[in-house]
Amino acid sequence: MTLVIEDCKLWGRKGGSLVVEEGRIAAFVEGGTPKVRSDATRISGNGGTVFMGFIDTHCHPFEYGWLRRNLDLKGTSNLTGIRLRLSARARSTLPGAWIAGMGWDQERLSEARMPTRSDIDDVTPNNPVVLTRVCGHIGLLNSRALQEMANAAVGLEGYDLDSRGTPTGIVRESALPPVLAVLPKSEAAMTSDLLTAEVEASKSGLTTLHCIISEAAYQEELSALVGLHSSGSLSLKYKVYIPAAAIGYVEDRRIRDRLNDDKVRLSGVKIYADGSLGARTAALREPYADDPGNSGLLRYSQDALNQAVEAAHDAGFQAVVHAIGDRAVEQALEAISRVSGPGNERRHRIEHASLLPPDLLSRMRKHAVRATVQPLFITSDTWASERLGPERARHLYPLRSMLKAGIIASGSSDSPIESMSPILGMWASMVRSGVAPEEALSMSEAVALYTSNARSNGGDPEEEGLGARADLCLLDSDVEGMHPALLRKVRVSATVVGGEPVYSAS
Ligand SMILES: [Zn+2]
Repeated sequence: MTLVIEDCKLWGRKGGSLVVEEGRIAAFVEGGTPKVRSDATRISGNGGTVFMGFIDTHCHPFEYGWLRRNLDLKGTSNLTGIRLRLSARARSTLPGAWIAGMGWDQERLSEARMPTRSDIDDVTPNNPVVLTRVCGHIGLLNSRALQEMANAAVGLEGYDLDSRGTPTGIVRESALPPVLAVLPKSEAAMTSDLLTAEVEASKSGLTTLHCIISEAAYQEELSALVGLHSSGSLSLKYKVYIPAAAIGYVEDRRIRDRLNDDKVRLSGVKIYADGSLGARTAALREPYADDPGNSGLLRYSQDALNQAVEAAHDAGFQAVVHAIGDRAVEQALEAISRVSGPGNERRHRIEHASLLPPDLLSRMRKHAVRATVQPLFITSDTWASERLGPERARHLYPLRSMLKAGIIASGSSDSPIESMSPILGMWASMVRSGVAPEEALSMSEAVALYTSNARSNGGDPEEEGLGARADLCLLDSDVEGMHPALLRKVRVSATVVGGEPVYSAS
């Protein structure tokens, strides 16, 4: 098949037409229209920029699809708003069935406090409810849900208690996955969740997703992925990251052999070292500036984390360690550097690496540890400097320093936490909304986050130009030299994977 994108601009070059043959870039004709077969598929670029396809190196597409069919609480600004959405949901839910949702953020609520079960009990008397915070690290349960968990003989570790020792409804970190595991799961629903996410991702110009498989439903999610892949139903490419608990499972079921090609590859193991700044569960070296008795939560001892990273490494996987606070980053660096060897050939990486003071940054560089970063956290987490105080906040998401030090950092959305759009991610990395503005990226650095660095962090060949695989994204404007503030308005016109259009705006 031949595909021609006419009247477009390749990044860093003059305008012209791009010719794709058999899934690879065959020619770029500057200033003219190339001669191609009459049955070639033609896309008009209207002068827009073409990039090598964007890659989201950390996202949760199954959760994205899940949230579309459950209760989305993002954007709620007070408890009344949450209660209204919840009671509407309860009216359309059978008595006894679970109601699940995600997206509240106590920092955005006018009440400025953590919600409790008594805020939601009266609107959901007949249904157990679990609502996860926007970060996914904390959940709010109503009394019915607490009762169900007590019936399942779950202990109270990780459950907040009031002064009388009664659960408030808030559950934290490792106490949350057992609650989510109780929700009804079906492979069919998860199959459509992934396809829902694919539609959104291809609209956003993404051609590859680094897909984090959940701790709560890894068997069903992996079955859905294997099913879609073996029937040839996936449009995008995937690198798949499983929870540590699933290593034995994927070996026993031979899932690793079935997800092991250029389209879908089981690449790595995701390990959580800590929580989130928003929930004050990210593990810090010094206490939170706005909560002096609290330094966050480490999920593992150093020994246990070392073992988890080593197990992933020994099984031939890329270890990707979620670490947001500086104490967790330090722990992750220790665990990774014990196995990575010179050059870190297995590309072990830290997810988020949010609070990265200079000593940890240079340790990261020394051991060639990679990172995935989420630029939209910078513009969303407006409260972060209160959490950390002005001194530490200077070392929050130091993207420029990381790239200058030669750390291979790649961009990601952590969707459904943030929008999947890499254009918005690039925008956030360039504007930073006043958070350590000296760490702002240039346009070409921002592009690298989602293209060359992302390919490298997924172990894909470093190819661009003639002969490269035609994973492409066409934008509706020429973005070279564009003011960063205008980038937010740019839309994706078309997305191409392996030479096949998978999205077209027209
Ligand atoms: Zn994540």
